[in-house]
Amino acid sequence: MKVCKFGGTSMANASTIKRVVNIIEDDPSRKYIVVSAPGKRNSADVKVTDALYACFNEVQKTGNCDSTFLTVAKRFHEIVNELGVDVDLDENLKVIKEGIEASKTPDYAASRGEYLSAKILAAKLGYDFVDADEIIKFNDKGELLLNYSLDAVKAKLSKLDHAVIPGFYGSDTNGKVHTFSRGGSDITGAIVARAMKADVYENWTDVDGFLTADPRIVDNPTTITCLSYKELRELSYMGAEVMHPESIFPVHSVGLPINIKNTFNPSHPGTMIVKTAEQVDGNSVITGVSGQKGLTIINIEKDMMNNEIGFARRVLSILEYEGISFEHVPSGIDTMSLVIRDEYLVGKMQKILQKIKESVHADNVEIHSGLSLVAIVGHNMASRLGTAATAFKALADAHINVRMIDQGSSELNIIVGVDTCDYEKAINAIYYAFVKEQ
Ligand code: ADP
Ligand code: ASP
Ligand code: MG
Repeated sequence: MKVCKFGGTSMANASTIKRVVNIIEDDPSRKYIVVSAPGKRNSADVKVTDALYACFNEVQKTGNCDSTFLTVAKRFHEIVNELGVDVDLDENLKVIKEGIEASKTPDYAASRGEYLSAKILAAKLGYDFVDADEIIKFNDKGELLLNYSLDAVKAKLSKLDHAVIPGFYGSDTNGKVHTFSRGGSDITGAIVARAMKADVYENWTDVDGFLTADPRIVDNPTTITCLSYKELRELSYMGAEVMHPESIFPVHSVGLPINIKNTFNPSHPGTMIVKTAEQVDGNSVITGVSGQKGLTIINIEKDMMNNEIGFARRVLSILEYEGISFEHVPSGIDTMSLVIRDEYLVGKMQKILQKIKESVHADNVEIHSGLSLVAIVGHNMASRLGTAATAFKALADAHINVRMIDQGSSELNIIVGVDTCDYEKAINAIYYAFVKEQ
């Protein structure tokens, strides 16, 4: 039995939804289907989820969403008319608009894209629609209640031969809609697959699988045939948005395989994601390269820092107090650096600098924004001599100045910090040094 999740590009319009229907009907083992909201139809288009967040913002300013809701209504009218499905769209849209205008949080608004998308596909297939707010549960802190959700999914879906379920959201203990972070339908799919003991979780998207690099940066990158959960987590956390980095947690204890497939090229085998490195039958030195922009590095210098017990704790407790998480903490004998996402520092930078200076009496504290991180990932790196040399030679040959280096203790990754203006060049340099040359 297969659980399938179809992403935003697969659900973008009536013709892509017809492809989805063909894929599902082509294989009777595809029984439980999780869907995203309609995504972009072309690069200039707006995702329905973004339009719904805009509706919420309009309500905050004007008390209604008369203007922005039109985009959402138009998208769904086009889909329903062209598919010729029997859903009472006007009534659904009326309830949703009123709900967005009455709700206090953006989550309800954002969730309605998946809700309608699932209702429409269920009607087209003649499958049951099961609302995610009945079966995916969060606690009051917004944390997923995994075991509770697994039981609820199983109890509900075991009674049904087939069903379509909206991704991305569930409800909290008060029954209010709560969403995962962006791209979270991947997590819903993983929960449903685990709960229903699927043989495989198929994640259908618009590329031929997990690619060795971001196809928007590298021209025509190769597809990774097989990778481990850990490699997936490293690559997606660091920026490969094809899978949500948290989507392995529901399945990793049971080793349920994930197969990333292309809705627009269904005969391609795609990428298999498996539990352990031993199951990955690959010989290449690196599995893939990914990265992200938008980071700041705070460099702290103090003579004799290495002898000062509690120095790192005092610095990190400032971040904890301010509710800021950090990405990396590279350190030297008398230096310590903090790599932090820009968004966490908005409005807090000066305060943090002041606090660091005061609490550890640093000799010097400097900030460099405009940092990007590049992650070189692969289990095989640990056993190969010269991996780091190849990476740094490739960067040097491309005239890229390396601002920071960090290697995870598992030797599964090497993280390199570069100036954001060099980011795309760095990804290409690594790709060509490791993937193309081997
Ligand atoms: P979906 O709507 O199906 O969930 P996403 O837009 O979330 O799809 O993810 C697919 C996109 O991720 C691809 O179209 C591609 O542009 C981007 N992407 C970035 N890095 C990678 C990668 N390493 N492999 C595959 N796709 C990637
Ligand atoms: N529609 C949501 C988003 O755009 C969730 C998803 O697509 O997985 O983030
Ligand atoms: Mg996605």
